Amino acid sequence: MAKIKVQDLKKNFGSNQVLKGIDVAVNEGEVVCVIGPSGSGKSTFLRCINRLEDITAGHVIVDDQDLNSSDTNINKARENIGMVFQHFNLFPHFNVLKNIMFAPMELGKLNEAQARETALRLLERVGLSDKADSFPSQLSGGQKQRVAIARALAMNPDVMLFDEPTSALDPEMVGEVLGVMKDLASEGMTMMIVTHEMGFAREVADRVIFMDGGYIVEEGKPEQIFGNPQNERTISFLEKVL
Ligand code: ADP
Ligand code: MG
Repeated sequence: MAKIKVQDLKKNFGSNQVLKGIDVAVNEGEVVCVIGPSGSGKSTFLRCINRLEDITAGHVIVDDQDLNSSDTNINKARENIGMVFQHFNLFPHFNVLKNIMFAPMELGKLNEAQARETALRLLERVGLSDKADSFPSQLSGGQKQRVAIARALAMNPDVMLFDEPTSALDPEMVGEVLGVMKDLASEGMTMMIVTHEMGFAREVADRVIFMDGGYIVEEGKPEQIFGNPQNERTISFLEKVL
């Protein structure tokens, strides 16, 4: 059953059509990596999936709820969709524990004791149990991003969206973040990941989508996209990045 269904999605910014008709269905437990050149619409596409952007046409359906229908409570729907950004976006004035506890408490999903227990469990899962009392400014980039992942997981989402989660990291920290994402994938989380980490995509993705110019130009299993790409634009992009 499809967790995420995107049908003929179009997005304009003024007269600039950035997404020109995207169709995708992501199944439960599937890991989809989205690759493509800068400016091809990858971030906009991901942002439409939790309605951080209003769409111009088409449908985005998550867990059978059309995010743009007037019957859908978008805040409730968003609780089910975790998002991790390139620049962490942690609350600088909260310590690590409070960063993770904040949303589930604020939204009435967990009481303080439950939120604390959840936060501690998630910190252990991302290997940061010793950082509960630290502030974001005291953490490395890789540690901040692992906190950001724990914070998204605290809402117990069905779906996780990642927009270039390792692009702002020093090279030696990329592996620790990809490791956490790999664990999540193997535990069956449904994930969409915009990434430039081709090795990760090749290893972890069930499916790779190549976007260019607001379209999905080619998609397939990683061995197909990386080993035997068919479209000229995919071939030329991969020649530059591999
Ligand atoms: P990618 O993530 O693949 O680099 P983006 O989705 O960020 O691509 O951007 C695709 C296009 O949409 C770019 O031309 C960009 O300038 C434009 N764009 C993105 N966000 C906005 C915005 N908020 N307002 C106007 N144009 C935007
Ligand atoms: Mg982007």
